Amino acid sequence: MFSYRHGFHAGNHADVLKHFVMAQIMAYLNQKETPYTYVDTHAGAGVYQLNTGYAAKTAEYETGIARLWNKDDLPAPLADYVDMIRSFNPEGKLLHYPGSPFCAEKLSRDEDRLRLFEMHPNEVKVLVQNCGALEEQNRAAGLRRGVRGKRVIIGDTDGFDSLKSLLPPPSRRAFVLIDPPYEVKDDYRKVKVTLDEAIKRFPGGVYAVWYPVLQRLESRQFPDKLKRIACKDWLHVTLTVKTPTPDGVGGFHSSGMFILNPPWTLENTLREVMPYLTAALDQDGGARFTLESGSGTPPKPAAPAG
Ligand code: SAM
Repeated sequence: MFSYRHGFHAGNHADVLKHFVMAQIMAYLNQKETPYTYVDTHAGAGVYQLNTGYAAKTAEYETGIARLWNKDDLPAPLADYVDMIRSFNPEGKLLHYPGSPFCAEKLSRDEDRLRLFEMHPNEVKVLVQNCGALEEQNRAAGLRRGVRGKRVIIGDTDGFDSLKSLLPPPSRRAFVLIDPPYEVKDDYRKVKVTLDEAIKRFPGGVYAVWYPVLQRLESRQFPDKLKRIACKDWLHVTLTVKTPTPDGVGGFHSSGMFILNPPWTLENTLREVMPYLTAALDQDGGARFTLESGSGTPPKPAAPAG
């Protein structure tokens, strides 16, 4: 269960899609003053070094974030995302890539709350250390913003199970990212069950699910299953960066983000940005994207008492 290390994949095309979408959602939430709770059910280590360790071994970031790094014609929303990545690389060279908890920490405000879950014993240890180091940096820069304590809480418990206890959040605003490794088929089922329960507890939340687009049945059926969740609206985007081979050999080519209750602005932003992003990350002329949206089945109102 615990063989997955996100470091091998840090900054790859799937991270770009996921963290770009996440940045758009948080920018939208930031437009309203009321604070929100960000929940990361599968947090990873927080931030990754690209020139050493796991990421350097696979260099997946070279066909991901590195493809955008020197572009000077990025559409504005994508430029904002790349600027966020730049803020982790003050030297001007692409050496660090933030995982979802660090993206969220950067994009949220002092009054927002971050609840991060990571079950891998080493990854959670590194996440705690990384958050401690970030707090030190903030302090040195004169910022009083906590990266541990009340603002950011890290749990080493199961993210699927732990979500329940946080919903509904005190401010009635939440953004939940669900990003499991999908190494075991059961992750697909658990995402659906977790979302069914979460929507029941807190129908007003924004929920984003990342998933790998693979040949396996669970992956192919996954979006249709998510479309049946009792939410108000959904948005589904996929990005393919190279021609999929019939036998599935040839490397990881596609991923998707499925968003329940997306900001109403997100679909248009994706329509604007995805053609550019697809062309920029194209590896063999076979890159493409899909974008679809719809309405879920709203939960039935409770029967009148008596
Ligand atoms: N969200 C991260 C990001 O975007 O930077 C990447 C997360 S990675 C895809 C998935 C992580 O979930 C791994 O670090 C893995 O150890 C952890 N994990 C696996 N099962 C878990 C569970 N049930 N609860 C919490 N964490 C889990």
